Order: sequence, then structure tokens, then C-alpha cells
Amino acid sequence: MGAQLNEVQELETRVTNVFSVDVEDYFHVEAFSDIVPRERWDSYPLRVEDNTRRILDLLDDQEVEATFFVLGWVAEKRPALVREIADRGHEIACHSYWHRLIYKLTPQEFADDTRRAKDVIEQAAGRAVVVHAQHRVVVKRFNPWPPAGRHALPPGCRQCPGRCGRWT
Ligand SMILES: [Zn+2]
Repeated sequence: MGAQLNEVQELETRVTNVFSVDVEDYFHVEAFSDIVPRERWDSYPLRVEDNTRRILDLLDDQEVEATFFVLGWVAEKRPALVREIADRGHEIACHSYWHRLIYKLTPQEFADDTRRAKDVIEQAAGRAVVVHAQHRVVVKRFNPWPPAGRHALPPGCRQCPGRCGRWT
């Protein structure tokens, strides 16, 4: 009886730490969307490679595995970076293609963006992507969109229980 109680207490106090990284660049942030239109993203120097490699080195030092939510646009421009993240033992996940706010998209636009991102990320990583997180998902009661279930996501995607309020 005492041993069983200790096992239950141990389970109740065990903490799981989860580490995730959004693989995107400084000019992808929503706050800049009015002054840095998406059609000009190509004109900005990328910092995402060096910054991601710094994080990869830190994770290696600590022997920590993480989930990297990769922007499809980044995967298309720097596929070798995505492959390196995967080859260094981390999970590759989808962070949309254009980093748009989900409630500004129609269901069709969301599906198209997610499919495009998933395809390009999988090609770069050389493996299937099953987790998706949309940029800054905010579910508003008065807005019927975004969808409340996994059925609107492309086949192969699922909702991650570990990222409260975000699509996966
Ligand atoms: Zn993001």
C-alpha cells in the first residue's frame, strides 16, 4: 500500500518540460506587416540560419530535444537548415507558410497555406510533418473561424495538446 502511494505521488509531481522554437525571421513578425509587406521579404537579409544554429548548439550542449515550428517560407529559402534541424534529432513541425493571422483567413486560404507549408517543409526535412502551430492563434467567440476541430486541417495534421490555444 505504501509503495503504491509513493508511485502515485511520484506521478503527480513529475513535471514534463517542453521546448519549442519558431523558425522565422525578424521581418516575419506581425508588428512589421504594415511596413514589411510579404512581397518584399526577399529583399531582407536572413538572420534565421545563424540564430537557429546558435539554438541548436545550446540544445546540443544541454542534450535537449525540441520541436521546431518552421515557417514554410523559410523552408523554401533554406531547406538545408530544416534538414539540419531534423538530422540533429529534433522534431520538425509546421508554422504555416506566410505567418498570417488565422482569423484573417478564409477556411480555404488556411487550408491552402497549410498544405503549401507542409509540403515544402516535408521536402526539406525528408520526413513527415504531423504538428502544426498557426501564428498567434486567437479564438474569438463571436467569430466562427478558425475551426474548432482537427477536421479542417489537411490530412496528416493533428492538434497538439501541449500548446494551449495554438493549432497543431
Ligand atoms: Zn511565429
